[in-house]
Amino acid sequence: MTDRESGLVEPVDVDALVQRLEQARAELEERLEGAGDPAQLEELRVRYLGRRSLVAQALSALGRVPAADRPRLGRTANEVRQAMADALEAHRQRLLAAEKERRLAAEALDLTLPGRPPLLGRRHPLRIVLEEIEDIFLSMGFTIAGGPEVEYSSLNFDLLNIPPDHPARDMQDSFYIDASRLLRTHTSPVQIRYMQAHAPRLPVRIIAPGRVFRRDDDPTHSPVFHQVEGLLVDRGVSMAHLKGTLLAFARRLFGPETRIRLRPSYFPFTEPSAEVDVSCTSCGGAGCRVCGGSGWLEILGCGMVHPQVLRNGGYDPEEVSGFAFGMGVERIAMLRYGIDDLRRFFQNDLRFLEQFE
Ligand SMILES: [Zn+2]
Repeated sequence: MTDRESGLVEPVDVDALVQRLEQARAELEERLEGAGDPAQLEELRVRYLGRRSLVAQALSALGRVPAADRPRLGRTANEVRQAMADALEAHRQRLLAAEKERRLAAEALDLTLPGRPPLLGRRHPLRIVLEEIEDIFLSMGFTIAGGPEVEYSSLNFDLLNIPPDHPARDMQDSFYIDASRLLRTHTSPVQIRYMQAHAPRLPVRIIAPGRVFRRDDDPTHSPVFHQVEGLLVDRGVSMAHLKGTLLAFARRLFGPETRIRLRPSYFPFTEPSAEVDVSCTSCGGAGCRVCGGSGWLEILGCGMVHPQVLRNGGYDPEEVSGFAFGMGVERIAMLRYGIDDLRRFFQNDLRFLEQFE
């Protein structure tokens, strides 16, 4: 079939076609530079190697060119097709490699970044004060005793000589578990427990720190708070021993200039009883806002163990005597750190808790 016979196809200009093939090859390589994703790459493949591409046209025209030109055109078309396919494949590999690199970078650990220090916990202010109180009494020969937080009402009240009409016995003032048990309202039942377990051995010389519970909730009262109970029983124990012990304690805790005073008071389980004040930790006794101008701060209650309580513990009040005291740990921590609201101890606010070492 000749060109003339078909009448449909232009005569093929082999030189021009070879030139255009070389141009197309250069053009593709240039366009590949700007192809950043697989979709663009596919677009270029269809355009330069697809059925309507110049390469496809050149190959299909082979039959219509003079035999002398055929090898030259065929070789060029095949070379260009192969070169284009190689260039597309090479660029596809480059895109894959770049993508892999990007993912690795996103996941990688940068070992040159500064580390994140772990958040270190620290002791709660109540724990700090409590441990200080314990250390002072341990150094004076006391040992630490404990008792349950759910206590028999007989131990919490009756055996401590607390009369049936005492307000703490009211359901409105205490958390009862059932008719005979409640959350202890003070650490004093440990006095009875310890004496009953140790009588008639002497001396009894303990402190009993722990949680106690009452139906109170305002800036200076919490339904749960901490006390430290103290008890000493031996032959010939007097009020002078009590006062000397508390003075030594106050000076260790608040500083060597600290003075104390005892004011007569009433507790069912001690006789006589006293409230103990320390000279104001803020003004030293001159009078200021913290002490309300009096120069004194009340920190604990104490007294000589009531003879009936000694008997209930298994000791003979004709033979032995003793003293007892009880202090609130929150109260002492508030004085120590100048804290005005007791509830801060239990709100777990790190901004507050981080201030204590
Ligand atoms: Zn003061």
